[in-house]
Amino acid sequence: MEIINAHVHLIEIEAMAQKYQDFSLSGGISVLQDIVATLPLLSPEMLIQQMDEAGIAKSVLYAVDAPIVYSSNEYVKSLCDRFPDRFIGFASVNPNDPTAVDTLEKAVKGFGLKGLKLHPPLQNFFPNDKAFYPLYEKALELNIPIVFHVGTTPFGSLCRLSQANPLLIDDIAVDFPDLRIQLTHLGTLWHNESFMVVEKNPNVFIDTAAYLYEIKEILTPNLIDRIGPDKIIFGTDYPMPYAGTIHNIKDFVDCIGEIGLSQTTLRGIFKDNFETLLNGRQTKGKDISLAELMAEVANHSNQ
Ligand SMILES: [Zn+2]
Repeated sequence: MEIINAHVHLIEIEAMAQKYQDFSLSGGISVLQDIVATLPLLSPEMLIQQMDEAGIAKSVLYAVDAPIVYSSNEYVKSLCDRFPDRFIGFASVNPNDPTAVDTLEKAVKGFGLKGLKLHPPLQNFFPNDKAFYPLYEKALELNIPIVFHVGTTPFGSLCRLSQANPLLIDDIAVDFPDLRIQLTHLGTLWHNESFMVVEKNPNVFIDTAAYLYEIKEILTPNLIDRIGPDKIIFGTDYPMPYAGTIHNIKDFVDCIGEIGLSQTTLRGIFKDNFETLLNGRQTKGKDISLAELMAEVANHSNQ
């Protein structure tokens, strides 16, 4: 079974240190030690080795225009150019930057990147603010999906959780019903609200880049049936450590395999649903008006 890991960061550590020279995290936050532990995993060769061990055909590399997990569009493009059969690149822009719309267009048309990754709490913006709607209109025009981080972060006073509320994304899904959207990390402890947004909106998907225990406890066959087996996308957030462990992509593949899902559902999670996110649905559900519904009802009662 072909597998795509749809949530991967190859952090551009030296460029990040240059760009954010004055940046510091508040005391007591362990994330910097976590990043130090990930350093050996940041080479593309190490990622490809883990992909091979786990049977992953391709990984989606996220650029992130923010500190901690910084990676530039240029760097992601260069990795995709080096390993065109193994990597798909998603762009990032800072929505607060007046050039964001132009930067996105350049990243997609000039660099060949295939989606947009945004991190509202790390990038300090409320995603449903209409000031950012031109960016979503551009994504729609370019026919690319947007990945929104939702839920908690390990970044302390650097982030506001109010900006990571999955219900904010419902506004975007409603106002842009043709925009394809991916939520992250099974909601990062904001599980139920995230699943509500996914269940309600045909254009919203969610990735599995969560702790292994969350995948086991939360992503049950009943829940998958309920929110739609065609809405869940395999991703691991490589190279992030979970509870201090060294990231091992194969553990996540095995964990999804142990849920007890049909081959069709597994194929969806591991590959097909990501391709729907990327390319759109082949057939869209037919709209039905209330008048048509009432005509059906009348027809039925006459029989
Ligand atoms: Zn991530």
